[in-house]
Amino acid sequence: MTATFIKGTEIAATVRDEVAVEVSRLKESGVEAGLAVVLVGDDPASSSYVNMKARMCERLGIVSRMVTLPPETTTAEVQSRVSELNDDDRIDGILVQLPLPKHVDKHAILEAVQPFKDVDGFHSRNIGSLVLGHESLVACTPLGVMEMLRRSGVEIEGARATVLGRSDDVGKPLAMLLMHANATVTICHSKTANLAEVARGSDIIVAAIGRAALVTADFVKDGAVVIDVGSNQVSDRNEVVRLFGDDSPRLELFDKRGYIWMGDVHEREVKEVASMLSPVPGGVGPMTIAMLMSNTIKAARLRRGL
Ligand code: NAP
Repeated sequence: MTATFIKGTEIAATVRDEVAVEVSRLKESGVEAGLAVVLVGDDPASSSYVNMKARMCERLGIVSRMVTLPPETTTAEVQSRVSELNDDDRIDGILVQLPLPKHVDKHAILEAVQPFKDVDGFHSRNIGSLVLGHESLVACTPLGVMEMLRRSGVEIEGARATVLGRSDDVGKPLAMLLMHANATVTICHSKTANLAEVARGSDIIVAAIGRAALVTADFVKDGAVVIDVGSNQVSDRNEVVRLFGDDSPRLELFDKRGYIWMGDVHEREVKEVASMLSPVPGGVGPMTIAMLMSNTIKAARLRRGL
């Protein structure tokens, strides 16, 4: 079997088109949706993510506000800026870019965001609502994975699903979403015994581990659907040759740039057994930003009871 690729880039473009329509509808009723992104410090990767989010807002007609704070900003100072945004009626969604500098208390900052403006879905009240199955703002990456599955026609109800990874921002919320969609869910982590064997019993496997190519063909039963959340930088040429072959476009890219991005799934092996597979790049990544835009509109509506 050769897997069909679930193209996150294309699904994300559709989601963004839908968001743009929603933005126009809101404008017709006098509402301009606004997203504030708080960046503490000068980490280049974080700055580039934040800029990407701001550009996407601009493209879709969402007002974006950047709050950039110097690396030495204290927890209390970040809390105070978040509190201003909580009180600002022009702001519907607040996102605090992670990671925060080590001296800033991440938990305190995430809890400082008003739950109804928490477009990242990281506030404990939103996580509680997700567990209970109540309407809430849910983390963007797990939401993106669910959209990819649904829009690719994957039958979730009754399926056996394995989530590899139990992080607060991906694995746990995704397991909840899959369970609410009536899958039977297994959650795996670094202490899971016989990981490949556990995964092999599944119709759907979502890998969110952060280990390049850990999910090999022996994790995947014939015809399973595999979603790769992982985003790993590989800077060893021999590793790229081992994983992708010595005449692959990935190797060409590596030779130009000195590194490549890849997922947690060994694409070359797994595509021979899975029925569907999401690529990295071009899979979950673009969906995450699209769902952030979608969450901003949802927050604008929820707050106004629209
Ligand atoms: P994380 O917080 O580091 O969590 C990783 C999880 O994987 C943990 O639960 C850990 O288990 C588990 N794990 C680590 N090594 C393992 C192993 N050898 N076998 C089984 N489980 C193992 O990472 P995350 O934030 O969830 O992110 C996971 C990956 O997704 C990363 O590559 C990240 O860059 C990527 N990501 C991508 C997007 C996107 O938009 N594309 C968004 C978010 C994350 P323990 O709990 O036991 O430590």
